[in-house]
Amino acid sequence: MNDTSTLIVALAAQQLLFACGWWMQARNIAAQRKALLHWSVFCALTGLSLLLFGEAARRAAPELAQVLRNVALVAGAMALRRGLLQFSHQPLRDREQMLVFAVYIAALALLGTSDDAAARRTIVIAIVMCWLPLRMAYELYRGARSEFGAPAVACVGAPLAAVGVAMGVRGVLAIVRPDAAAASITVAAGFNVALLLTVAVVLAVFHFALNVRVARRMVAELEHLSSHDSLTQLLNRRAFEQRLTGEIAAGIRAGAPLGLLLIDIDHFKRVNDRLGHQAGDAVLREVADRLAAAVRRSDVLARVGGEEFGVLLPDTDAPGIRQAAERLRLAVCGRPLDRPEGPLEVTVSVGASMRLSGESDAEAMLRRADQALYRAKAEGRDRTVFDTLAQVSEASAAPVVAPAIDAV
Ligand code: GH3
Ligand code: MG
Ligand code: MG
Repeated sequence: MNDTSTLIVALAAQQLLFACGWWMQARNIAAQRKALLHWSVFCALTGLSLLLFGEAARRAAPELAQVLRNVALVAGAMALRRGLLQFSHQPLRDREQMLVFAVYIAALALLGTSDDAAARRTIVIAIVMCWLPLRMAYELYRGARSEFGAPAVACVGAPLAAVGVAMGVRGVLAIVRPDAAAASITVAAGFNVALLLTVAVVLAVFHFALNVRVARRMVAELEHLSSHDSLTQLLNRRAFEQRLTGEIAAGIRAGAPLGLLLIDIDHFKRVNDRLGHQAGDAVLREVADRLAAAVRRSDVLARVGGEEFGVLLPDTDAPGIRQAAERLRLAVCGRPLDRPEGPLEVTVSVGASMRLSGESDAEAMLRRADQALYRAKAEGRDRTVFDTLAQVSEASAAPVVAPAIDAV
C-alpha cells in the first residue's frame, strides 16, 4: 500500500463512520430526518466510492470498480445537496440534478473505462465535483444565512467551497498535464497526498459544523416551543411573565414608565357553544392577529390564558396606556370577524395597570390589571378599566401608589 492508498482507506472509514452517525441522528431527530438521511447516504456512497479505489477492488474487478466509484461519488454529492436544500427549506431542484447526473453518466459512458481516457475522465469528474460543492456552498449561504447568520453558515459552506476549488485545480492539472499524477488519485504524487489530506480535514470540519447547525436549530425549536403558544404563535404566559420582570427592571434603570394590559374576549364560551371548538380556535387566532397588527414594535403581546391576552407597553405613560388600550380594543371590535357562518361580532374587556413609582413587583402589577379586568367585566364588558390611574395626572409620568380603579 502506498501513501495515497492508506489515506483513501482512512478517508473511506471516516465517511462510513459519519454515515452511521447521521443515520443514528436521523432516528432521533424526527423534524430533520429527511435531511439527515440524505447526509447519511452521501457519506455511505462516498465511503463506498473511496473503498472501490482500494487495491483489492481494483485487482478483483478493475472496470466495474472504476464505473461504480465514479457513479457513487457524484450520486453521493447529489444526495448531500438534496439534504442541504431540505435542511435550508429550499426547492429540491431534482430536475436540474437529474440532468447533471444524466450528462455525467453519458460522458463517462462515451469515454469508456480504458486507461487512455483516464485524464479525460478525471476532467469530467472534476467539472461535476467542482460545480456541485460550489453550488451547494452558495445555496446554503443563500438559504440558511438568515436563520444562522453569515459566519455560522460560512463554517459549513467554506469546506464545501474548498472541496470544489480543489477539484477544480485537479481538473486543470489533468488538462495541462494529462499524463501526470493528477490523472489518477491513487498515484502517490505530492498533489494527490495533499488533496486527500485536505479532503479528510475539510470533511471532518464540514460534518462538525453541520452537526452544530442541527443542534442549534433543535435548541431554537425547543426554546420556541417552551416560550410560544402553539395556537396563536404568540408568547405564552411563562415567557410573558419573564418579559414583564425584565421590562420592570429596565423601566427602573431608565426611570421609564411601563404599562400592562390584560385583554379578555367577552362571552367567548358562547362562541364555542354556538360554533364549535374549532371555530373558537379560529376566532382566537383572528383576535391574536388583530392585536398583533395593532401593537407597536416595542410592545410585548402574549396569550396568557385560554381567551386572555397580555400586552406590555414599555416607556408608555398614563395617557399612552389609555390610548393603546382603546386602540387594541377597537382593533378587535371595530369590524365583525369574517366567518364562514357569517359575520361575528367579538368584543373584549381590557384591564390596565401601570408600574407605580418605585414598584418592582411583577405579580402586584398583574394582580392590579386583573382586578381592573374583573371590574370591566362587572360593569358590562366591551370597555377598558384602569387600575390606580384615576389619581394620576394625565401629564405625570410618575404615578402615585393608590388602589383606586377608574373606568372609561
Ligand atoms: P367572560 O366574558 O366573562 O370572559 O366570559 P367567557 O365566556 O369569555 O369566559 P369563561 O371563562 O366563562 O369561558 C372561557 C371559555 O374559553 C371557556 C373555554 O372553553 C374557552 N377556551 C379556553 N381556551 C380555549 C381554546 O384554546 N380554544 C377554544 N376554542 N376555546 C377555549
Ligand atoms: Mg372571556
Ligand atoms: Mg378569561
